[in-house]
Amino acid sequence: MSGGAIELVGLAASEGIAAGRVRRILWELPEPPAATIAGRRNRLRELERFREALAWARTRLESLKADARARLGEVEARIFDPQLLMLEDPEVVRGTEGYIVENRLSAARAFQWRMLELRERWSRTGHPMVLDRLNDLHDLKLRILNRLLARPSPWEEEADPNAVIVARNLTPSLAARLDPAQVAAIATEEGTRTSHWAILARSLRIPAVVGLAGLLERTRDRQPIIVDGATGRVVIEPGPVRMERFERRRSKMRGWREEAAGPEEGDEGLRVALRANLDLPGDARRARGSGAAGVGLLRTEFLVAGRNRAPGEEEQYAAYRQVAEAFPGRPVVVRTFDLGGDKFPAFLRARLEDNPLLGRRGVRVCVDEPELFQVQLRALLRAALHGDIRIMIPMVNGAAEVGMVRELLAAAGEALDRAGAPRARKVPVGAMIETPAAALGAATLAARTDFLSIGTNDLVQYTLAVDRTNARLAHIYDSLHPAVLSLVAQVVRAGREAGVEVSACGEMAGRPSGALALAGLGVKVLSVAWPSLPEIRRLLRTRPAGRIRQAAVAALAAEDGDGARRALADLLGD
Ligand code: PEP
Ligand code: MG
Repeated sequence: MSGGAIELVGLAASEGIAAGRVRRILWELPEPPAATIAGRRNRLRELERFREALAWARTRLESLKADARARLGEVEARIFDPQLLMLEDPEVVRGTEGYIVENRLSAARAFQWRMLELRERWSRTGHPMVLDRLNDLHDLKLRILNRLLARPSPWEEEADPNAVIVARNLTPSLAARLDPAQVAAIATEEGTRTSHWAILARSLRIPAVVGLAGLLERTRDRQPIIVDGATGRVVIEPGPVRMERFERRRSKMRGWREEAAGPEEGDEGLRVALRANLDLPGDARRARGSGAAGVGLLRTEFLVAGRNRAPGEEEQYAAYRQVAEAFPGRPVVVRTFDLGGDKFPAFLRARLEDNPLLGRRGVRVCVDEPELFQVQLRALLRAALHGDIRIMIPMVNGAAEVGMVRELLAAAGEALDRAGAPRARKVPVGAMIETPAAALGAATLAARTDFLSIGTNDLVQYTLAVDRTNARLAHIYDSLHPAVLSLVAQVVRAGREAGVEVSACGEMAGRPSGALALAGLGVKVLSVAWPSLPEIRRLLRTRPAGRIRQAAVAALAAEDGDGARRALADLLGD
């Protein structure tokens, strides 16, 4: 690389591209003095100070929550709930008090010890959703220790629209303060696409990349930096040539957004409908504004992430209805809970598994937890009265799972009828194609479902046996690998023969080369993270259909992913 620029590749967490200056945020915990506390009266004073710090933290968190509710919405405001619950958790409170009274530790020292123990216990599960809770724990620890030791908060608000936050990870408190007017982009060493803050960044349209190994070591405050949240690339000290390339790409992206939403077909008749992937119901209106012809994937994990209790039917019904009403007359594909693997809520008590990504996840968890699943199905059947809601099942391997879900859906319908609750009579049911077994068995699945949707994120992971969350393997996690393309072609064929719609809803559909390959192989509906809609729409509209098909066939016949990329390269660019 020229001019001393350093390029790091991580995982794309929030689409969009931005350049700015590094603003490092270091979450170092203060080290409380080790001396023990002599005398009963002094220990009582420490107990008092600890209780005062808890009360102060509660007031502070309540006010952050109210602010997040006003600025971002109810779902987003809930990111503070786990911390508020921790403030009352006897494990936290009594444990710390015990150390003050019995071990004669200062309030700060006792709290630090207790939090270390809890962290140790929680981190043994290894599930990223539990790891997200560790982040909550860290946030709380920092807040209370700073209070007890009279230290200022590490994040003093500073209006700098060019700030690119560089951190090991973001805490929920910082996430809730994210403001596109003050933060150009985010780059972190840790975190996942499902971290609270990443979901918020997407909804606020702040580009973000996670999983950047060695990022903090390689950056200094105020260094120029480019963050590309679509490709997962970060360039430190980019130099004039890279900056110019960045400016060109950014102004092009602006132009695409400003183009009026029009018909989705290509010039020469390649008809591809573009729908949006949503992580939060609050994004529905913005997605519609970007020209989405419906929702191709509503992830429903926002209803469970970080919660200590399963979500109720009314709350779910309101969320699904909100999205359906934002898209009148358009399909809204709601994916049932895709838990397990990289997303496990606290209330389900994740069992320790050696290979969580090959473990209890997706539809396996749903049929295993019929109570949780029934509530979701009932809410969906009720919400389907307000729009074209379709139900999509994640991580299906074969027809038996579809049969089980259909039975549970029928039972949910009967329960609503018994209660006299109005509901839709017929809701389409589709399967995600995320495993090689599902792709190879697509003909059987097509016969048992109303639609198929290729989840390329997982399909690539399971076809190539490359963990999608492992930033160190990002270079071999290749959605253009001909083995993946060949499975896509097979699913398209099966759908066509059965007369069943085939869509694609993984990240691949939102990247220019991936969208060309999928559309060229005959996928008729692409569902993409909504900020990517304008770019993909423009690309598919301006490239001749015949050339897209030809390039996709050449990519399919290529020896490897690089060969496939070369086959598609001529259609990219302006
Ligand atoms: C996929 O696997 O492609 C997909 C869309 O689902 P998720 O990314 O939520 O696993
Ligand atoms: Mg998936």
